[in-house]
Amino acid sequence: MQRSEIWGSSCDGKNHPGFRCAASGLRIELGKRPAAHWHTMRTQHHIVEIATGPGIQLHDITPQVRELVRDSEIRNGIVAVTSRHTTTALVLNENESRLLDDVCTFLTRLVPPGDRYLHNDIAQRDCPQDEPENAHSHLAAMLLGSSETVALMDGKLDLGTWQSIMLVELDGPRARTVSVQILGS
Ligand code: ZN
Repeated sequence: MQRSEIWGSSCDGKNHPGFRCAASGLRIELGKRPAAHWHTMRTQHHIVEIATGPGIQLHDITPQVRELVRDSEIRNGIVAVTSRHTTTALVLNENESRLLDDVCTFLTRLVPPGDRYLHNDIAQRDCPQDEPENAHSHLAAMLLGSSETVALMDGKLDLGTWQSIMLVELDGPRARTVSVQILGS
C-alpha cells in the first residue's frame, strides 16, 4: 500500500474541507488522509556547478541531472531544474553543434551587445563601478526563461529523443550553479 501526504493540510480532527480526486474518484478530506492516497513523497535538492565558456555558450547538463535522479532512488514525480542567475537561461532543446552556433547568432542579432541600454550606464546606477555592461545578457535570459520541469517516469526523465537540458550562458565565462529539485516517490 502506497502512502500519500496531503501537503499543507491542517489536522484539527473536526472540520475537514475536501475535494474529489479526478484520477481515483475518491473524496480527499484534508487532515484525514484516506489510506488509498498515502504515498511516501520525498524531495531532494542538489546544486550542479558549471564553469562556463566565454560569451554565449550552451552547456548540456542532462548527464548530471540523470545521475542525480538515479542516485535519489525517486522513481516517479517531477524534476525542477532552475538556473540561479540573471544572465543565464535554462532550456530544453537539441544539443547539435551547428544549431548551438545558430542560437548564438540569433540571440546576438536579437539583442546586440553594442546597442545602447540604460542598464549599461554604470555611472547612473548605485552599483560597483566595475559592473559588467551586460544588459543584452539579461534581456536574452528573460526571453529564454530560467527553469524547466521534467516529468520523472519509472526512474527516467521523460524527455523526447532530441531533448537535452541545457544551461545557456549569456555573459560568460563565469562559475554558475543550477538548482535541481527532485520531488516524488
Ligand atoms: Zn547586469
